[in-house]
Amino acid sequence: MSEINYTIQQLAELLNIKSFELKYPALINSLLIDSRVVISPETSLFFALSAARDGHEFLAEAYANGIKNFVVSKAGYQEKFPEANFLLVDDVHAALQLIAANHRNAFDLEVIAITGSNGKTIVKEWLYQLLSSDFQVVRSPKSFNSQLGVPLSVWQIHQEHTLGIFEAGISKNGEMQQLAEIIQPTIGILTNIGEAHAEGFTSPEEKLKEKLKLFKDVKLFIYSPDYTVNIPADELPGEQQFSWSTKTEADLSILFVEPINGKSYIKALYKGEEIECLLPFGDGASVENGIICWACLLALGYTPEQADIRLEHLTAVNMRLELKNGINQCSIIDDSYSADISSLAIALDFLNQQNQHPLKTVILSDLPETGKTDVELYTEIAALLKQKQVNRLVGIGSHISAFASLFDLPAVFYENTEEFIQKFAEITFNSETILVKGARRFEFERISKLLTQKVHGTVMEIDLNALASNLKFYKAKLAPGVKVMAMVKAFSYGSGSFEIANLLQYHKVDYLAVAYTDEGIALRKAGITLPIMVMSPEPFAFEAILKYKLEPELYNLDILKAFVAFLPETQTAYPVHIKIDTGMHRLGFEEPDLPALLPLLNQTKKIKVVSAFSHLAASEDPQHDEFTGYQLETYLHLSGALRKGLGYGFIQHISNTSAITRHPEAQLDMVRIGIGLYGFDSGLADKSGLCTVAVLKTTITQIKTVGPKDTIGYGRWGVLPDGGTTATIKIGYADGYRRSFGNGVGKMLVNGKFAPVIGTIAMDMCMLDVTGLDAKIGDEVIIFNNELTVDDLAKQINTIPYEILTNISQRVKRIYFYE
Ligand SMILES: *Cc1c(COP(=O)(O)O)cnc(C)c1O
Repeated sequence: MSEINYTIQQLAELLNIKSFELKYPALINSLLIDSRVVISPETSLFFALSAARDGHEFLAEAYANGIKNFVVSKAGYQEKFPEANFLLVDDVHAALQLIAANHRNAFDLEVIAITGSNGKTIVKEWLYQLLSSDFQVVRSPKSFNSQLGVPLSVWQIHQEHTLGIFEAGISKNGEMQQLAEIIQPTIGILTNIGEAHAEGFTSPEEKLKEKLKLFKDVKLFIYSPDYTVNIPADELPGEQQFSWSTKTEADLSILFVEPINGKSYIKALYKGEEIECLLPFGDGASVENGIICWACLLALGYTPEQADIRLEHLTAVNMRLELKNGINQCSIIDDSYSADISSLAIALDFLNQQNQHPLKTVILSDLPETGKTDVELYTEIAALLKQKQVNRLVGIGSHISAFASLFDLPAVFYENTEEFIQKFAEITFNSETILVKGARRFEFERISKLLTQKVHGTVMEIDLNALASNLKFYKAKLAPGVKVMAMVKAFSYGSGSFEIANLLQYHKVDYLAVAYTDEGIALRKAGITLPIMVMSPEPFAFEAILKYKLEPELYNLDILKAFVAFLPETQTAYPVHIKIDTGMHRLGFEEPDLPALLPLLNQTKKIKVVSAFSHLAASEDPQHDEFTGYQLETYLHLSGALRKGLGYGFIQHISNTSAITRHPEAQLDMVRIGIGLYGFDSGLADKSGLCTVAVLKTTITQIKTVGPKDTIGYGRWGVLPDGGTTATIKIGYADGYRRSFGNGVGKMLVNGKFAPVIGTIAMDMCMLDVTGLDAKIGDEVIIFNNELTVDDLAKQINTIPYEILTNISQRVKRIYFYE
């Protein structure tokens, strides 16, 4: 039997809790930090951690989900939930770490720990690919490498495992000691040390020294001296060391890297002899990660020949879930990454988060899970599908088919992918969300292809994790208790609608705001239950506002009167938001309106003011700070008068994105975050904390050679005086790439290099000068990403990022990624 099991008493003892009272005998095998991601509630221990929100707030929800064991730092819960077990500690996070470290300590296995600025996850996944034929490997799920991720990773160690591969990441000084105690590595790998992002550290040396603390007690340390120049050799960790370098002499000295058809042929000097390998990747980052894996194989005693054969078979690691439009109004979640039960739980969770259709189907292959018997595994999967309320299962593979009777939901089974594809025409998929998840050998990409709509040319990729990370960035800047209203108007600034709203709902923002009623209706239809404010509630849409429980912004007496008149006599306390004009001079009540406004509000019981707010005209600009101060003062004065006149309180808010960091005194009860969620904030001095959310890309449709006398495009504006090569690409002004980018104003990235626009922009196409860039038909062209940013584009045509983003037309397909 392979399950990890601790009795709750054992854990109480380990945590040294004298006062523990057993309420029900429990065996614990899962540690939970998120009440929503539950596999087996009865055997789960929930940690009420304090992060952006206090984990204690989710206790009731966790209990309702069937969880009965809790680690808490606040007393008084035992009385509220008499049936459940509570472990009361001073520090919940420390308790999690202690339990994990203790668990790790119980096993005597080889453990590789990986840290560094980049490449941790890829190196970890590749080592897993390279070593899993010789070892039973346990590894960090996805990029679980934080103070929380590491304990959860280590917790997965079972008796059968012979090798652990865990990554560790830190953001400030003093964090590594904890992780080292939990991982207790025997072998250490330092991937690299980047120059950027020294946030949290006073210097690059300090950062490096902190990282090296992970390897204090390892017997083997694998590193490149190129990244440890400031550390004397005798201060490097490890009883033994193995070095690699592209610059200096090392155990593995790279002589050259030669690109061949997207692959890399590498020659190196090792033990006085020339050795070689062929990596199936061409980009610089993959080459470095591949060399690190090469060094690791050699350091572990594999021969150069063995290493070469294994490296040649490495496959790309894609950790992202992709959400795409499918055939017959389906939404497809494509998860071809890992095929284990914890990643299935994460994918199912995403399926529920994106509840776009009431019907949820899962297409699942056999899962090659180590450390569990088939019965255990498929019983657990069946319970998971039931708990996540999946409506239908398509099982593919002989193992899952053999346990068909365990699944308590409509299910069909196929022996293999081939059989499914042959019978595809007989299976109906219609208006449902479909999760496609299979182990690599099942080649489920063939299934995804059948299910997804073909995407032509231009796509905008939206990284939902980046969006969540930006939300977290701003939440961390808020004073305790300040609420968040997320602005999702104009298709979430061009990034999508319900996909984004679903994510924001999942991450528990307090409010959403849209410009028009239609946008609010679309969100409600997609299952969004958060309160939604509508900023321009046209009278013809009042009926829909009521029907879909939307909350209007009332900005003048006419609209207020009209809305009150529209409400039925029986209506009481319908939530409304009062807009106050403090200097934007766009919409809103001003001081002279109060004498008329107050009696109107007081005479009716039909509405209730749930918030009153104003909008700042220039919160990002230091030149106008005095004016911003004046706006805040005016707002406080008017909303105070409103409060007094009404005799009750309401949510006060005035901050937009830039005000959050530039004018913290204006956070009041709630902030309204817009552009910051999408990764832009012109008022933010250090933008390194924000992530790029949207990438717009297209492909080359045709390549042409032009002579000095030829002209290119409409109006014959484009010329290449020395002749050259042009690429025609599928984006034009109808997609939102404005005509003002024409004639060299705009640039795009082709194979990593800048290519200027040549000639005018047409409706659906434009041309680039790709002379000397080795561009081919089908090559990817980046219009904007984290390198060539929306900010850059905005500057090129003298506008602002808001306009660039919201201009991208709806015909450009959006694809969503989630890790
Ligand atoms: C759009 C909008 C915001 C968000 O502004 P950002 O600068 O994008 O953060 C806030 N409040 C109102 C009323 C808005 O219309």
